[in-house]
Amino acid sequence: MPPVEIDAGRDQIKARIQELIDTNSVVVFSKSYCPYCTKVKELFNDLNVECNIIELDLMENGSNFQDLLMEMTGQKTVPNVFVNKTHVGGCDNTIKAHKDGLLQQLLGDKSEVYDYDLIVIGGGSGGLACSKEAANLGKKVMVLDYVVPTPKGTTWGLGGTCVNVGCIPKKLMHQTALMGTALQDARKFGWEFSEQVSHNWETMKTAVNNYIGSLNWGYRVSLRDKNVNYVNSYAEFVEPHKIKATNRRGKETFHTAAKFVLATGERPRYLGIPGDKEYCITSDDLFSLPYCPGKTLVIGASYVALECGGFLAGLGLDVTIMVRSILLRGFDQDMANRAGDHMETHGVKFLRKFVPVKVEELEAGTPGRLKVTAKSTETDEIFEGEYNTVLIAVGRDACTEKIGLDQAGVKVNPKNGKIPVNDEEQTNIPHIYAIGDILEGKWELTPVAIQAGKLLARRLYAGASLKCDYVNVPTTVFTPLEYGSCGHPEERAVELYGQENLEVYHSLFWPLEYTVPNRDNNRCYAKIICNKLDDNRVIGFHYLGPNAGEVTQGFGAAMKCGVTKEQLDNTIGIHPTCAEIFTTMEVTKRSGGDITQAGC
Ligand code: FAD
Ligand code: NAP
Repeated sequence: MPPVEIDAGRDQIKARIQELIDTNSVVVFSKSYCPYCTKVKELFNDLNVECNIIELDLMENGSNFQDLLMEMTGQKTVPNVFVNKTHVGGCDNTIKAHKDGLLQQLLGDKSEVYDYDLIVIGGGSGGLACSKEAANLGKKVMVLDYVVPTPKGTTWGLGGTCVNVGCIPKKLMHQTALMGTALQDARKFGWEFSEQVSHNWETMKTAVNNYIGSLNWGYRVSLRDKNVNYVNSYAEFVEPHKIKATNRRGKETFHTAAKFVLATGERPRYLGIPGDKEYCITSDDLFSLPYCPGKTLVIGASYVALECGGFLAGLGLDVTIMVRSILLRGFDQDMANRAGDHMETHGVKFLRKFVPVKVEELEAGTPGRLKVTAKSTETDEIFEGEYNTVLIAVGRDACTEKIGLDQAGVKVNPKNGKIPVNDEEQTNIPHIYAIGDILEGKWELTPVAIQAGKLLARRLYAGASLKCDYVNVPTTVFTPLEYGSCGHPEERAVELYGQENLEVYHSLFWPLEYTVPNRDNNRCYAKIICNKLDDNRVIGFHYLGPNAGEVTQGFGAAMKCGVTKEQLDNTIGIHPTCAEIFTTMEVTKRSGGDITQAGC
């Protein structure tokens, strides 16, 4: 903006104001520190409209300008906006004019006006949170969600991975398995039932999928209520501000926006061996499988593999887990192995240090019979096994390859397809943001995607500054004996701070509810890692026991507040619970003291 030379004369100032109005398509009389002025400036910037901004507070006689603007328009406050010689008004009026389409009319051909303020690609955990929040803040928003069917033809509704093929069906099926254990315990508590207990896969599958259907519908309704334009089409960039949307019937439409949020999530990875796509299933197929999977081989050893293998075994199926290297890479290995040992003692077989090389069909059916050949990662040993179902759970690939990111100039890590962003979830292209599972180096968890999406919308459209905090994120692996954690695994804490600067407190425990049925005595385990250099602050929390998600959530909040060992000791426990163990932990790992518990 050229500096405005001011003559003291009233008439001259008035003439200067008129000249600015007459010779610029957009003039904003503003003050450099005013948040409302910033909002209006951002709006024009988003619309790609050039405007002349007059910062009255930076001018010698800006107050005279303001007085005369009052005389000319009846408005004393800033911003004071003119578009093609028409007085639009202040911030609220300008935003409203934009929403009503009046601003676009006033700008006429001279502006490049976009169809939407925001287009969100992907209607999963992150995308839905972001689009609803942006619409709440008065923005014109479109969200596109499209599910590419699996090689087996499975597909599902709105809401993304968590709702349809992730957290929700997984937790409900895990719960089904826990009920089986509860039924066994029940007899010890005096319940008598004569019928033989058996489980019906189809009944469970139908009930779970009916619930998911109700969630899909709820999401549609809430998007409609919030005026978010939901489109069930596959989106890809054709220009930096333009996408092509292709629906199920192949019909193409084109849409533009000032800003974009990428929230396309991930899909299960296949092995690239003969027979994998033809005969195997992934978690995307499992939760709506129309028949009981029968004897199952699970390939992989992380969250998805252990959780699915765990609940299938809990339903009474014959389950083998093929582990390439270790269980739950990235987690505290002591905890991971304890969770695995518990599964093993409850009938899950582990085939360790093997990778599959081919899968062949012996007999078609629902389920059929498959032959799996695997080789050892350490010797020449070959393994052959027969199963009804092979579930591949070897990780997930970010859905970033086929969304035209090259057309928009967005950088992707070529090694893993993940998108690097700054601490405001902004990609290398300033008007394109990314959230959720596709981010490089971030947690792949629903609440993280939701938090990032909501906070991003608030920063973009409500002048907020709070960023998503990716540190000390609590999480739970829903293995048959659940494992909750927050903060560092012990190995990582040692790497960061050195063994000598840490104190690790730990204890085995026996939940009261396990005592009468006399099961899993001293299999549950609690551990905290404290940083001696920082007031014994808890930097790692680990819990293996029932209701791990519920327990870990509260301690996650405490860790966010910087809880120390002394504060835990000063917290009064709730008796009789499992979580109370964290208020009474005395034995350090260093001491080698006895950690078994005799009673309460
Ligand atoms: P998603 O929820 O995957 O949503 C992305 C959406 O975008 C999808 O609907 C996809 O079809 C759509 N899409 C992709 N490309 C396009 C395109 N070009 N055009 C239009 N639409 C497109 N997390 C937890 O916190 N707790 C759990 O217990 C848990 N359990 C899980 C269990 C399993 C089996 C799995 C697989 C995951 C689990 N997760 C869990 C992880 C959680 O589901 C994800 O972290 C979360 O869903 C990520 O959200 P998102 O918004 O990044 O992506
Ligand atoms: P993951 O964490 O990436 O783990 C992949 C697993 O597959 C590892 O055990 C890996 O073994 C193994 N593997 C990879 N390639 C293999 C191959 N060619 N042959 C044999 N094994 C192979 O993947 P995930 O379990 O799919 O989980 C993805 C994400 O979803 C997680 O990071 C998590 O955030 C999220 N999730 C969360 C929950 C929850 O919150 N409860 C539940 C499920 C998923 P190596 O260790 O040898 O590499």
